Amino acid sequence: MSDIIPITPLPNAAATSADGLGCHAGKDQMLDAAAKAGKSEVLAQYAADYPKGPHDQPQSMCPAFGSLRVGLRMRRTATILSGSACCVYGLTFTSHFYGARRTVGYVPFNSETLVTGKLFEDIRDAVYEQADPDKLDCIVIINLCVPTASGVPLQLLPKEINGVRIIGIDVPGFGVPTHAEAKDVLAGAMLHYARQEAMAGPVAAPRQGRSAKPTITLLGEMFPADPMIIAQMIAPMDLAVGTVAPTREWRELYAALDCKAVAAIHPFYTASVREFQAAGRPIVGSAPVGIEGTHDWLGAIGAACGVSQDKIDAARNQTLGAMRGVLASQKINGRITLSGYEGSELLVARLLIECGADLRYVGSACPATPWNQHDAEWLKSKGVHVQFRASLEQDLASMHEFKPQLAIGTTPVVQAAKELCIPSLYFTNLISARPLMGVAGAGSLIQVVNAAMGNQARFDEMKAFFGTVGQGDEAGVWENVPVMHPDFKKEVRRQFEKKQKKRKAEEMG
Ligand code: SF4
Repeated sequence: MSDIIPITPLPNAAATSADGLGCHAGKDQMLDAAAKAGKSEVLAQYAADYPKGPHDQPQSMCPAFGSLRVGLRMRRTATILSGSACCVYGLTFTSHFYGARRTVGYVPFNSETLVTGKLFEDIRDAVYEQADPDKLDCIVIINLCVPTASGVPLQLLPKEINGVRIIGIDVPGFGVPTHAEAKDVLAGAMLHYARQEAMAGPVAAPRQGRSAKPTITLLGEMFPADPMIIAQMIAPMDLAVGTVAPTREWRELYAALDCKAVAAIHPFYTASVREFQAAGRPIVGSAPVGIEGTHDWLGAIGAACGVSQDKIDAARNQTLGAMRGVLASQKINGRITLSGYEGSELLVARLLIECGADLRYVGSACPATPWNQHDAEWLKSKGVHVQFRASLEQDLASMHEFKPQLAIGTTPVVQAAKELCIPSLYFTNLISARPLMGVAGAGSLIQVVNAAMGNQARFDEMKAFFGTVGQGDEAGVWENVPVMHPDFKKEVRRQFEKKQKKRKAEEMG
């Protein structure tokens, strides 16, 4: 157990004691509270790393899920949340829905422990209790919205206890726009820690030993087959795939840093990229998707690693020939709109176009970065509307405007598409969860997209059968056939308009 530290009141606990603070409450109020509570520096860094606009808060899940997920996927790593019980309930529920199979730690608080600063002491005690070097390499503590806004000072925790590394991060919904970028908050913090360790002295080698060839670190969570596919593609350049970051184990962080170059497959890992650049590693954006994408990416990787042109050509010849064969024999025929919040939307969009799709719109909740610039320009040159920090309204508007044969999107987009009788696919569960790179990526995407588009007749049949049942005023569960009351509606509208007029008159004095 730790030495008990004196209880010191939090810098601005009172600012968070109002009812209803959270992702549904005033963001400006929370930001202001956090700034007064001494979190200005971390919030300024987030604002620089994760630029906002035109739409500053995408309608996706709680951002902290990204950090939580990165921690939960790592061996010998414990994750503890500090936040409101309702937030923790939602986050643990989602974690287990996605198969965490791991306990999520929680340090609860009430207004008294928050206001007096006892919460920080409770967190410190919890960390000391958990820090067993036989079981753990690392403990991650995540401050959610309210503890961040009230200034719970995780930076004052010891950096290490009994050899167990302690990493405290603030991941408020009002500072980190998406769960994708929240993955970067933790991955960046871990890479920073590991880089300091590597600079201070010898560190553990990867479990399977160091690669004999120079390695490429792949940045971004991807389908498990994709790193293997990429490894085959770059083999003619005498390069190997090292590690995928976020990593699955602490010692892999050293291997990730010990690379020849980093492929920012997912483009939003700004803090992680900063650590790789500090370690002197070149960064290559985009990914080997489709023929043109693969051609350009292999060239960029070869150039970043100083590979000779004949080896780059050999790598291109090996992959592109097979890919041309797949794309010549299968095609996607149809108009598609695409949106998501995973950060890989532009890569999928490129592949769809190369597979023959008539893609009109791609919306991503993630921002424009140097690592997706090439993809955005390529897509725009093909006449695709590229929307960064896309809102749900923009995603839906694109679907209404372009009337696609297939809408790929987030849950509410898919729901709206179904209502409109448009076949649809969930981006996260059905597109992200399959290979995207190389020949396998093209073959797999064509198959799933064509199968979904082929469902139009079933949609039409269902629509013809059900008609407008369950729509609009008739939505919900009815025991009898719903009876409409247009007179009642009229009366309610009349009263509403009267109230509006009265309010306006009062405002004008
Ligand atoms: S932690 Fe997540 S769920 Fe809780 S208030 Fe913040 S954004 Fe909302």
